[in-house]
Formats: sequence, C-alpha cells, structure tokens
Amino acid sequence: MTVGSILASTVLPLAPRPMDDELLSSWLLRVACRYDLDGGDLRGILTTLGDDTEAILTMNGLDYRPTHQEIAALASAARLPVERLSTLALKTANPTWPRHWYAWDWGALDPINGTERYADALAPGWCDLCLSEDRAAGRHTYLRRHWAYAAVGFCHRHHLPLRHLCPFCQTASTLRFVPSDGGTRLSCGDCGRPLDEYAAAGPKDAAASTSTGNILIDHAWSVVMAFETDLCRALNHRTPTARWMGLSRPAGFIAATEDLIVALMAGQGAYPREHAINAFDSAAFPLSGKFRSRIDLQYWACCVPPARRRSLLAAVISLLLDEEASALVSESWIGSYRWTASLDWLYRWLGEHQRAWLVARSAEWPELLRQRLEKIADETSVRRAAHHGRKASVPRQKAGGPVARKPFPGKTQGTPPSTSQALGLQDAAHYRHLAEAILSSPEWLAVRHASPAVRRRTLHRLSEAALAASRTAHGHAGPS
Ligand SMILES: [Zn+2]
Ligand SMILES: [Zn+2]
Repeated sequence: MTVGSILASTVLPLAPRPMDDELLSSWLLRVACRYDLDGGDLRGILTTLGDDTEAILTMNGLDYRPTHQEIAALASAARLPVERLSTLALKTANPTWPRHWYAWDWGALDPINGTERYADALAPGWCDLCLSEDRAAGRHTYLRRHWAYAAVGFCHRHHLPLRHLCPFCQTASTLRFVPSDGGTRLSCGDCGRPLDEYAAAGPKDAAASTSTGNILIDHAWSVVMAFETDLCRALNHRTPTARWMGLSRPAGFIAATEDLIVALMAGQGAYPREHAINAFDSAAFPLSGKFRSRIDLQYWACCVPPARRRSLLAAVISLLLDEEASALVSESWIGSYRWTASLDWLYRWLGEHQRAWLVARSAEWPELLRQRLEKIADETSVRRAAHHGRKASVPRQKAGGPVARKPFPGKTQGTPPSTSQALGLQDAAHYRHLAEAILSSPEWLAVRHASPAVRRRTLHRLSEAALAASRTAHGHAGPS
C-alpha cells in the first residue's frame, strides 16, 4: 500500500493517539512521522483535500485556535472523537489566557498603530528528562503543551530549566520527529541527534550536584518556579498567593508582572547597559547575551527564548522581594557603583515618560504594590524638587509643594499610555528629529572637520540647548 492510496480516503489506517497534555502540532507531527511525511504536507493533504488553491505547508496556526473544520477533518482521518483533538488546542485548554502568554517565534509592535502581532509559529522548549522518561516507558516522545507557555521556563516535574538549544550542536533549529522502534523520537533538526539521549548521558545540570553554589542555584530556581505556578493560577483566573505582591486579584497580578517586564526591557540609551534587564546576571539565571531591542520590534516576554524569560521573571521577583534578590541576582556592582536590585532602583533608572507610564499602569496593580510604587514616586519627586531647589534660586514653593506635584495619578486614571510610549518609541522619533536638526545646523557643519574633542563639546552644547527648548515647548520645564 502506498502513502498515496492510504491518504486518498483521508482515513489513516494507523494514527498514534494524542497524549492528554500534548500540543496538537506535536500529535500531528507524530502521525506524519508514521508515513514519512512532513507535518505540513500531511496537514495540507488531510485538511485541504479537494482544494487545489493553496496547500498548508507548515504547522503554523494549528495549535492556538484551529478551525472546527480542520479539527473535524483531522479527527475523522485519525478515527478520533472531535473533542479528543479539540481539547488539545491552546485556546480550548486555557480559554482565559491571552495570546501573548504563549511562547511564539517572534513578535512585533506595529509602529503605526501600536498593535502587537505574533508569528503563528509556536516556540516550545523541552525537558530532556521528560523525553527520556517517555522512552523508558515505551511511549513516543512528545511535546507537552505547557512547554509552549510563556509563563513557564522550567520543567516543574524535574526542577530543570527548559531547553531551546540542542545540547549537542547548540543550535535553535526546528525540532523533528523521527521514527524509532515503532515509535517516534524528538530530534534536533540540525544535527539529527535524539534529544532524549542527552539525559541518558548522565547528570550535567547544576542542580544535580550538591555544592553550596548549586544549592543556591536550586533555591533560586525553586523561587522562580513558585512564581510561575502563581502566574499560571492567575492566568486561569484563580487567586495567586500573597507572597509576591500581597493580596492580589488575578488580573492585577498579571498586569503588574507584565508592566514590570516591559519596564525591565525598556530602552535607556544614555546608560551603558541600555536596558535594565542587562543588569541582572547570575549563576542561576545567566544572561544569554545582552538584550537588545530591535528598532521596530518591541518584544514582550512571549517572543524571547525560555532562558531570557526565566531571567525576566527572576528580575521581576527580585524587584518584588528584597529578601530573595541576593539569591536571584549575583552581581552587586555595575561599573564602579554598588547596585541592589529593587523597585526603587528600577524607578530611578527609568526615563521620565517611562516612569509616568509605570505609575499610570500601577492603578491596575495589587494595592500593596501600587502603594509601594506611589511611595517611591513621591520620594523621588521630593528628592528631585530638593535638587532643583538647590540648583536654581527660584521662589520657594508653598509647604507641601513637591507633594502636590507628585506624578502619581488617582485610581480613576484613564487609558494609560501605550506600550510604545513606555518603551520610548515616541521619544525615539522625537529625539531623532532633534538629532537631525542638530546635524544639519550651521554650528555643527562649521565644526564638521574639527577635532573629536571639539565636535564632542559642540554636540553636547547643541543637544543640551535642543533638549531644553523641547522641554519648554512640551511643558516639561520642571520646577526651575
Ligand atoms: Zn522534565
Ligand atoms: Zn543538534
């Protein structure tokens, strides 16, 4: 019997059953593997039969919210009840989860209208030990649904970070299922090695050892896993524990986590590390290279590898819990000054617009955390007022003046600024115009061929003047 004759009836004589916690695409790839077909080809054959216009050639879009027709066609081909397959779809399994809480291959913020778009391709991680247990139990290895959750960077069963790079060749290539002993094995699409093999090669992960350093790493991982558990609870509209932000409604908990992640990834061109997250590096959560935001791509945590997501969550926790900061962040020096991760630090690090955005957003946060930020904002505002008071001889404000100027809005705050504002997109365009004006000014053209020191001084003077003028024009003159 040829593959063609098998498929013509669209009822497959042999189709592996799906696992309850499996990704729909993982199941279809395992089926395709039985017929030595690419998953996209099988999908095209089974779901667009008779439609000769455009065949679906990838697995993109299958996992999130597949159409009823597609599920019905796949179920009938595999002789499965429709419900058995439809419950595998992410939207059915987790109806309350927003799309950006899944791990996607990429995402982009539309610079025109600020809407977010994600790739249709999921980017799941995996756990070697889970795959190796599948083999030991004599089942097919398969991709778990929760490996595609942006809120989960660990295997909670084995207390190990999920992988997204092949441990043999270190590439992040596509995963493939290959036939093996009547079953299927998940392999690296690049070097072809089965990924479960790595676990059998012996314990190599830090947590497997018991030295002091590794006990600390294990503790740091447990803290982040506990946070992940609460994130998933909140995404399921269940109340998270009060450990992180005090008594929290699920929506407030999610909002605060998302906003702190945005703030950690917001750009500050004037600082050597550019993005706050680049200050967080530790043995438990090593930074996988410096985070850089691409020009018109504003990543949210859903579009970064699991290693980056873990360090983002670790950073959020160290902002929330002072007592855990030392376990989560090993570096205490940035250049020549001592650094402690804290919400206070993050707030002071942010630019003016970003601070205003965070404060506006905090109206949605759990009350204790909102009050904490309010206090920090007030203190910063008082400190700044005192600083300006010393610098300029202006008439003294009435008593309580600085507090009256506090940037914190009431709880009836309207629509907060868009993410693009928080991330400095408008700022960037604004400053680009300023820069263009400076670079075409007669003062700058006059020193074009002067020494670097002269050009630097001139540029500094022109920038200061332009920024001061723009602040006055936009009503951000400040107290002086
Ligand atoms: Zn595992
Ligand atoms: Zn490989």
